[in-house]
Amino acid sequence: MKNCQLSIVVPCFNEDQAVETFHCALVNAIEPTGETFEVCYVDDGSDDLTMTQLAYLASVDERVRYTAFSRNFGKEAAMLAGLRMSCGESVVLMDADLQHPPELVPRMMELSRHGYDQVIARRDRDGEGRLRSFISHSYYRAMGHFMDVSVVDGEGDFRLLSRRAVDSVLALPESNRFSKGIFSWIGFDTTSFTYHNAQRVAGRSKWGSRRLLNYGIDGMISFNNRPLRLAIYAGLLLSLAAAGYALWVIVSVARNGVGIPGYATLLTAVVALGGIQLATLGIVGEYVGRIYCETKNRPHYLVRETSDHPSPPAPEPPIHSRGSEGRASDSERSRTMRQFLIFAMIGVVNTAVYLAVYATLNTWFPYLASHVIGYCVSIIGSFLLNSRITLRTKPTWRAFVRYPLSSLVNLVLSGALLYVGVSHLGMEKNVAALAAGIIATPFSFVVARWAITSGAAASPELEPEPGEPAGNRTSD
Ligand code: UDP
Ligand code: MG
Repeated sequence: MKNCQLSIVVPCFNEDQAVETFHCALVNAIEPTGETFEVCYVDDGSDDLTMTQLAYLASVDERVRYTAFSRNFGKEAAMLAGLRMSCGESVVLMDADLQHPPELVPRMMELSRHGYDQVIARRDRDGEGRLRSFISHSYYRAMGHFMDVSVVDGEGDFRLLSRRAVDSVLALPESNRFSKGIFSWIGFDTTSFTYHNAQRVAGRSKWGSRRLLNYGIDGMISFNNRPLRLAIYAGLLLSLAAAGYALWVIVSVARNGVGIPGYATLLTAVVALGGIQLATLGIVGEYVGRIYCETKNRPHYLVRETSDHPSPPAPEPPIHSRGSEGRASDSERSRTMRQFLIFAMIGVVNTAVYLAVYATLNTWFPYLASHVIGYCVSIIGSFLLNSRITLRTKPTWRAFVRYPLSSLVNLVLSGALLYVGVSHLGMEKNVAALAAGIIATPFSFVVARWAITSGAAASPELEPEPGEPAGNRTSD
C-alpha cells in the first residue's frame, strides 16, 4: 500500500493458531487512530497453515500484504523481508503471538510524533521462569562488557522505526544479522517505555535453551572483536603465569636440587593450556566462519510467493494447505524418531546413575536397600529428563504416578522375550538379554510418552520440537 502512514511488520513461523486473533486485535487497536496503515506479514517457511491464513487475510483485507519464504530462514530474515516490503512513514515490528500487545502501537505512534526515530517497548520479566530470567539478566550484563553497542535487557524487536531508521537498517548489507545490535548501532533519537510481559496467545515459542544459547553467542560475536581481544589477554596472562612458575621451579631446583618430577602439575598445565587453545581456536573459527558466509554473499531468504504474486489456486478460507499434512506427518515421524533416540540415551545414562548409586550406597546399606534407593533415583531422574528433554513438557505429579508403568512394561516384555529367546530359540543368555532389552525399549518408550504427555500441554517455556529453523534468529 503506497503512501500509508504506518506499516506493521509481523514475522510468522507456525503461527496458524494465533495469526487471525492477532490480526483482529491489531486492526481494533489501530483503526480508532484514523491512521492509514498496512500489515506486512512474512511467513518464515511455516509447515502449518500459516501461509493459507495469510493468503486468506490478504483476500479479505486489502491492507494485508504477505511474503512467504521457501523454507524457514529465521526471524532475522523474516524481519528484513518485512522491512523491505514496508512502505509506511513509520514501521512497527511485532510478533504474531500477541506477546507484543497491539494496544501499545498508538502510544508508540504518539511518541514518534515527538520526533523520535526509534520508540522501543521494553517488556518486564514478570511471569517468566526464574532460571530463564536469571540467565537473561546475566547475559545482558555480560553483553555490556563484550559488545561495542549497548543492548538493554527487555528491549527486543518490538519497536517503531521512522522511515530514515528503516532505510539505515536496510542499508547494512551483512548476512549475519543481529537486529538488537543493528538497531542500537544505527542510533538516532530513541525513547522507550516498559510494558507488562504477556504470555503467548497460542502455539509455542520457537526459542529453546539451545537456540537461545546459539543466539547469545551470535550476539556476542556479531558486533565486535572483543572475544578475540580477550583470547589475547588470556594468552598473555598465562604466559606471565608460566614465566613466574618457571622462575619458581628454577629457584627451588637451585636451592633443593632436582625433586620428583611434577607429573600432576605438568598434566594440569597441559590440559589447561589445551583447553584455552581450543577455545581460542573456536573463537577465531567463529569469525572465520562468518567471513566465509559473508563472502558467499547469498540472499538472506528466498521467496515462495507474495500477495502481489500469489501462487494458484486462489486463496480459500484456511481449510486445506499446500501439502502441509504430508509435511506434518514427515516431521512427526522424524520427531518421534528423535524422541526415541534421546529416550534410549537417557536410559543408558540412568542405568549408569543406578549403578553409581547402588555401588556407592553398598558400603553403608544392605545391598537390597541400595538397590531400591538406586532404582528410585534412576526412575525419578529418567522421568524428569524424559519430560524436560525428550518430550519438552512440564513434569506433573499425575504423569509421575503413571511413569513407572513404562518400567513395568519393559520388565515384563523383556522377561518374556528373554524366556522365548533362551528356552525356545536356544540363544546364548547374554545375547538374548541384550536382544530382549533392545526390542522392549520402543514399547516402554511408547508407554513413557503416553505417561508424560497424555492430557498435558507442552510447556511454552521449554524448547519446541525443532523443525530445525535455520539461519539468523532473534528473540527478546
Ligand atoms: N519467528 C519467525 N521465525 C523463526 C522463529 C520465530 O518468524 O524462525 C517469529 C514467530 O512466529 C513470532 C516471533 O518470531 O511471531 C517471535 O517468536 P517466538 O514467539 O517463538 O519467540 P519468543 O517470544 O519465545 O522469544
Ligand atoms: Mg513469543
